Amino acid sequence: MKKPKAQTRAAIGSVKLRTVTGILHGRNVKMAMAHEHMFTDFHSPDTDAYMDVNWSNKIGASVESAAVLREQGVNLVVEWTNIGIGRNVVALRDVSRQSDVHFVCPTGIYKDLKSPALTGVPIAAMAKHFVTELTTGIDGTGIRAGFVKTSCNESGATKKEVGILRAAAIAAKETGAALGFHGPVAKTTRNVIRIMEKEGFNIGRFVWAHAQVSTLDDNRRQADRGVFLQYDAIGAHSDQFFGGPVSDDTMLERLGQMVESGYENQIMLSTDAAVCINPPAFQYDRNSAYLYRYFEDKLKQRIGARRTRKILRDNVITAFRQPTKL
Ligand SMILES: [Zn+2]
Repeated sequence: MKKPKAQTRAAIGSVKLRTVTGILHGRNVKMAMAHEHMFTDFHSPDTDAYMDVNWSNKIGASVESAAVLREQGVNLVVEWTNIGIGRNVVALRDVSRQSDVHFVCPTGIYKDLKSPALTGVPIAAMAKHFVTELTTGIDGTGIRAGFVKTSCNESGATKKEVGILRAAAIAAKETGAALGFHGPVAKTTRNVIRIMEKEGFNIGRFVWAHAQVSTLDDNRRQADRGVFLQYDAIGAHSDQFFGGPVSDDTMLERLGQMVESGYENQIMLSTDAAVCINPPAFQYDRNSAYLYRYFEDKLKQRIGARRTRKILRDNVITAFRQPTKL
C-alpha cells in the first residue's frame, strides 16, 4: 500500500508546477482542471492536413474558452495533447498569455502513429527525446513539458506502442515527472502499469485518465497501489469510448464511494473537452465550463466543501507537481 497522505497547506503551497509560461507555485493556483484540450488533431501526423489550420482562429477560440474558466476562478489547466495529436506549445503559450490561465503540457507520443520525427527511433533515443522536452524545451523553444502522457490501443498495446510506453516510463523514472495514461479499459491499464514498473517507474506518479469507465473495484485496486485517478467526463452526454451516459448522479455516487473508501487524496475531475478538433467532423460535444458551473455545487453537497476543494484543486497540484530535481 502506497496511498499518498494528504499534503498540508504549506506543502501544497511550496510545490512547483512546470507550465508553458514557466514555474507556477502551488500557493498561486486558484482552482484547477486536471484534463482538458485546446487544439487536437486526429489527422495522421504524416499527412499534409495535419495541423494545417487557421491558427489565429484556433487560438482565438481557445482564449475565449479559457477566459470562461478564468472567470470561474480556474487558473491552472493540465492540457493532455501530446506528440502526434496536434500539440502546439507556442500556440498554447499564446492562449495562456491572453487568458491568464496557466497550462501544463505533456511530452510523450499518442498511440501507434506515424510521427515522422520518431518513426523507427530506438526506445532509449525516444526516452531521451522525452527527457529533453521535460528538461530543456519542446520544438526548439524553451517551453518545457510538465509531465509525460501516453496512450495505446484500448484493447492492448501494439508492439510499437510497448516501445513508446517503455520510453515514457524510462523518461518519467529518470526525471521523476508524473506519467499520465489514457486508460478507458482497466485490463489494458493494468498491463501498461506492469510494463512501466518493469522499467523501474514509481507507480505513485501514475495518473489514470478516464478511470470512470472502469468499475469501482478496478478503481480501488489501483488506488490501493498509490495511483491518481481521473474522472474526466464530467457533464458529458456520452462517454466517447463506450457511449454510455455519464450522468452527474453516477459520477457523484462513484466519487462518494471513493471518498468513503479513503481515496480523497487521489481523485481528480475534469471534462476532457476539446475546444477545437481537426478535422471538424470529429468535434465532440463537451463543455469545459460545466464542471464549475454545475457540478462543483453538487459535489459540495455530497462530500462537503473541504473535500471538494481537495479534489478540484489540491490533488491536481500534487499529482502534476514538478519533481524537486527539475
Ligand atoms: Zn483527453
